[in-house]
Amino acid sequence: MNRVAAKPETGMYDVVVIGGGPAGISALLWCNSLGLRAVLLERSPELGGQLLVLYHRIIDYPGLLPENGRILRNEFESQITTLGLAFRTGCKIERLDLERLEIFANDARFKGRSVIVATGARKRRLGIPGENEFEGKGVSFSATRDHAEFAGREVVVIGGGDSAVENSLILARVCPRVTLIHRNDNFRARPEWIEEAGSNPRIEIRTGLLLREILGGNVVERIILEDVSLGSRETLKTQGVFIRLGIEPNTELLKGQVALDDEGYLLVDSKLRTSLPRVYGAGDVTRPVCLSIATAVGHGAIAAKAVAEELRKSGTHEYSAK
Ligand code: NAP
Repeated sequence: MNRVAAKPETGMYDVVVIGGGPAGISALLWCNSLGLRAVLLERSPELGGQLLVLYHRIIDYPGLLPENGRILRNEFESQITTLGLAFRTGCKIERLDLERLEIFANDARFKGRSVIVATGARKRRLGIPGENEFEGKGVSFSATRDHAEFAGREVVVIGGGDSAVENSLILARVCPRVTLIHRNDNFRARPEWIEEAGSNPRIEIRTGLLLREILGGNVVERIILEDVSLGSRETLKTQGVFIRLGIEPNTELLKGQVALDDEGYLLVDSKLRTSLPRVYGAGDVTRPVCLSIATAVGHGAIAAKAVAEELRKSGTHEYSAK
């Protein structure tokens, strides 16, 4: 069932915030502090965005030491609920007209004097045969969450960034053999982790290989790898495939309406203004220099401030700092 808080009736708002992760929630809180009438729309059944897939203890968000992202999400949600702020979950946007600042979702129409796009990013997938079919049956996107389930099994990890190498190290604590497979020789991961992985007798690092297919019966049994330079293929037996390829932005709805960069991230300036008047971006959808909850939350505040300033200048809004 879709959650509806504080009865956010459809209609006109100072700000429509799209996306209910840390950036969107922060934007909603700051809009409220600045006296702006705002509503937040989240397509998922619950708020949180990427917080919902953080399974480790969060040690770098000031003031709280939550055991995982969901617990931090609960704190955020409790704050906006206590304050009676308007948000809708399960709110699937069917059409977005950013020039007219109109959003059509679940048979309702929302119009803003401005829009803050905080649609975030998602874990990148390969889009290969077997990836979706075997998810939960040997294919995983998080060793932090699933490592215990794979204890005693031989697994592979795909990727060359911090996530892939960290996942390999986590898995090597419980798995007899972990093969870390990367498409080239240049790892983005921090050197000390690569060194640690390289000297771990349970981890084998293989480069210049692409994962092409995941095969099995009820569960994963083998994968097909392609050599990047030779084009040749090999079959590798494995009982688990961990895919850790970074993230990609949720900007499908924005395409053709507002300027995006060559990887689909929303282009913004230092005040988080986009190429369209009264449309702002916040959080991971804008490819911040530092990907973190703190950055997303900061972005929410900056975007709300910028919106308030603009609406005040255009005479459609007066600051009323609470
Ligand atoms: P990332 O740094 O963007 O690395 C993604 C990796 O996936 C790259 O090696 C990339 O290869 C590879 N890749 C991307 N698309 C691919 C494809 N289609 N096929 C094969 N390989 C592909 O992502 P990440 O490792 O998730 O890290 C994201 C951010 O989170 C980073 O800032 C990282 O430092 C941070 N992080 C921090 C921690 C921590 O502090 N504990 C842990 C994990 C992550 P190429 O290099 O060839 O493009």
